[in-house]
Parts: sequence; structure tokens; C-alpha cells
Amino acid sequence: MSECLIIKESAINRLGCFTSKFIPKDHLIAEYEGEIITAVEAVRREEDLKRKGIYTFWLNDEHAIDGYDKGNHTKYLNHSCDPSCIYKIADSKILFYAARDIRQEEELTIDYDYDADSELTVCLCGSVNCRGYLNETIKNV
Ligand SMILES: [Zn+2]
Repeated sequence: MSECLIIKESAINRLGCFTSKFIPKDHLIAEYEGEIITAVEAVRREEDLKRKGIYTFWLNDEHAIDGYDKGNHTKYLNHSCDPSCIYKIADSKILFYAARDIRQEEELTIDYDYDADSELTVCLCGSVNCRGYLNETIKNV
């Protein structure tokens, strides 16, 4: 399925991941690829200003997958408060599925659900129900 993914400029944030084909609801789209690293190493890399962007996807409190060097197209999935995709984490894998039918040429997005206690990050997703921030509990305010 992942052969239908294309990277191009996004209205949400720089580059985004789009689909060249219709994807039906619940369809498995792709797996997040990269290097499995410890939490300590993930934080070090996220704070490293020499790196151009952050592509760590946290599996749990102890490990993350870093797509910076070894990632595939899914590392360009942007956040949306009304995402087209969901992700499931199992057996140290992160898999993306269609949350609903996704139109050809549509941008694929997920809900980043940043921790409420991490730094507030303003959301630019533009969806009708945008909660204003990428952090999770802000939607309850
Ligand atoms: Zn939003």
C-alpha cells in the first residue's frame, strides 16, 4: 500500500505525506520505519539543534523510533486535530490505518497527542474542530 504515498508541500507544515490513490477506511497504510532508540537517546536527538527536524515517534516511555535517517514517507505525516489516519503500536511497530475513507490526493494526517505537560505547540491544521494546540488535554479546556 505504501507505494501510493507521495511527499509534497503541505498547507499544514512544510512537507506532508499525501496519497495518490483512494484509501478505504480501516485499510493498513504503512509502518513507521527507523531506528529503535532509548528514551535518553531520543531526548538527546530531539534537543540537538544541528538536526533538521524531529522524527522520533515514541513507542512507550522507554523507547522511540527515529525516522531521521532511516525513515520512510510516514515520517512526513503532519498533525491534524481531525486526522485522516490513526496509528496502533504493537510489538515495537507503529502501524498507520485509514481512520475514514481518504480521497485521492488528500494529505494523510494523525493526531500527535503530545503530552499535556510538554511544551505547548500551536496547531496549524485548519480543521473545523482544531483544538489550537498539538497537546492532548487542551481539548478539554
Ligand atoms: Zn488543529
